[in-house]
Amino acid sequence: MNPLNARIRSLGAVARRLDPQDGERAALLQPVMDYGNRFLDGLATRPMFVEPAAGGASALDEPFLEGPSAIEDLLHIVDTEVDTPGLNPASAGHLGYIPGGGLFHSALGDFLAAVTNRYSGVFFASPGAVRMENRLLRWMGELVGYPSTAVGNLTSGGSIGNLIGVVSARDAQGISSKMIERAPIYLTRHAHHSVDKALRIAGLDECPIRHVPMDGRYRMDADALERLVVADISSGLRPWLVVASAGSTDVGAVDPMPAIADIAARHGLWFHLDAAYGGFFALCDEGRRILAGMDRSDSIVMDPHKGLFLPYGTGAVLVKNRKAVLHAHRYDAHYMQDTFGPRNEDSPADLSPELSKHFRGLRVWMPLKVCGLAPFRAALEEKLLLARYFHDAIQTVPGFEVGPAPELSVCTFRYVPKSGDADAFNARLVRAIREDGRVFLSSSQVDGHFIIRLAVLAFRTHLDTIDLTIDLLRRKAATIEADA
Ligand SMILES: *Cc1c(COP(=O)(O)O)cnc(C)c1O
Repeated sequence: MNPLNARIRSLGAVARRLDPQDGERAALLQPVMDYGNRFLDGLATRPMFVEPAAGGASALDEPFLEGPSAIEDLLHIVDTEVDTPGLNPASAGHLGYIPGGGLFHSALGDFLAAVTNRYSGVFFASPGAVRMENRLLRWMGELVGYPSTAVGNLTSGGSIGNLIGVVSARDAQGISSKMIERAPIYLTRHAHHSVDKALRIAGLDECPIRHVPMDGRYRMDADALERLVVADISSGLRPWLVVASAGSTDVGAVDPMPAIADIAARHGLWFHLDAAYGGFFALCDEGRRILAGMDRSDSIVMDPHKGLFLPYGTGAVLVKNRKAVLHAHRYDAHYMQDTFGPRNEDSPADLSPELSKHFRGLRVWMPLKVCGLAPFRAALEEKLLLARYFHDAIQTVPGFEVGPAPELSVCTFRYVPKSGDADAFNARLVRAIREDGRVFLSSSQVDGHFIIRLAVLAFRTHLDTIDLTIDLLRRKAATIEADA
């Protein structure tokens, strides 16, 4: 055998370890499935939050060896170093931030997407994968009342969705770099920080930012918006973008979309709607009523990894103006020439910053099809009602005062102690709840006050968790009060 041939064969023998065969695959799958099942069966007794000091450090030191490791040993590392320290968002007790999901059925979709590795970035490579994603996006478009000519993208999350929305708005409005100092943008102080980040990435952070005042429920004051726009126009500026929220992160406020759409239309602004958290509430009647007017936005972001309970890593953006999205994102490189051909469907690569990408469609499609839509509608209405139930109940507990009635599923409240500093008391209360470990609440600052937030969106959260939370708050507040 010539030396080249011999070397290739010996490399191939080692390289083949990358491709386990039937029996070897089963030996890997079984322990992984067992681990997943143990995790889910033990979820109810796992603490909601474990201080970072309790693990995770050796995940950074873990060496990469030349030889193989036993899957059982690796699962042990995942267990102690990854799945133990920090927040446990798969749990029913995750009532902080905007909870994410983790549907089991999505794991099946991810498994298949990884094994078959269809190339979902361009139509030529996998027309079926691209069509499946476009079908999902069209379904989301129907849900929010967009025309069938709207285009969209399954993104990694709401942040990239906001980036695509903002960049499309910029190009549709013809905002060039020499104009940006004279091209104001309108949003409230409760807009999500990913919008500011998107503006920065897009080179738009030198646009004047007008923070529109809010009403008593932290919704954009539409009259104030119009006054600001009119004042800017009369001083010769070029207003071009208003960003509203359908479900703000802090308090779950829904900006007045019909009025904002009217103002945007009157003055030629692009109306971008950040519905990353709130958008999928449109699946239930009550949510659809609250979200009336979302169809009038020019672009909308909604996160399946929030409102459809998917595992992290899937957002969505829809844009009515197809040309604007293509202008920023479509690119024809020479080495892509085989893929050009007739394009009966837009490819994700033409509509987003990504080229090669995770076939996210399958992890969305699988749970929607396996479960049907009914449990999603029920879960979303249940979450709306759980937030209202909590809001009604906690204000009957002596000492607690509540923020505005929840529009969606976020409720803000705080304890007013008999004496002493309320902010410090509530910070202690949040810590005490965290240390108990059965539920996780987050806090924020609203109007300079420390407030506690309860955000209901984890699909495993039901009435028993909310009752437990009320009981815990009552008892922990009494303990801290007695301690003072
Ligand atoms: C979560 C959220 C975002 C950011 O989305 P990611 O999926 O975390 O990138 C943007 N806006 C709102 C209102 C959100 O709730």
